[in-house]
Amino acid sequence: MTRKAISPAHHRSLGDHTWQADAVCQSTECNPVDPDIFFPEPDETDKISVAKALCAQCPVRRTCLDAALEGGDTEGIRGGMTEEEREPLHEKLAHRLDYSRVNATIAGRDIHLTKAERRAVILAAYRQGLTEQRLAWLLKITEEHAQKRYRETRRALRNRDLDQAPATTPPPETGGERLGRDDFGTAA
Ligand code: SF4
Repeated sequence: MTRKAISPAHHRSLGDHTWQADAVCQSTECNPVDPDIFFPEPDETDKISVAKALCAQCPVRRTCLDAALEGGDTEGIRGGMTEEEREPLHEKLAHRLDYSRVNATIAGRDIHLTKAERRAVILAAYRQGLTEQRLAWLLKITEEHAQKRYRETRRALRNRDLDQAPATTPPPETGGERLGRDDFGTAA
């Protein structure tokens, strides 16, 4: 079965799409481009060279590459890099924790986050006292899901505090027993 190729600029993208209007691979009447050249087999070196030459003169090359990496788009040539060349970048990206992206998300920007960055957003939102509704809006999740994330965060912070508590003699009113997690109420 043959695949109907579309311009790489339209190949799964997230957030702001306005950059696609400047993509050199957009086929127009004056500038016809065969999208197939962006999806070559590894040994189709002619296609790869032509596609890379177009990417080299593309004003949105960097954005295109970022969009492919952030969107987990591993197919075809994007931002001047072949699938094979992008592979290590995709693997590295899965572990990214970039606080400038976390802060930008908290400020309301639409950013595709890694798992680690999403966790950092939840923690920052919790510490800043953002409502569950706001967290839900920031992460595009339901309010129930946001409530759950906050409960987990509360629990994790409380457990961490308990782990770090110095070993002291329990106060007399506990009857000689150390307080456990369940003695702190049911807020979480
Ligand atoms: S960098 Fe290449 S694939 Fe990306 S938009 Fe530009 S021409 Fe298209």
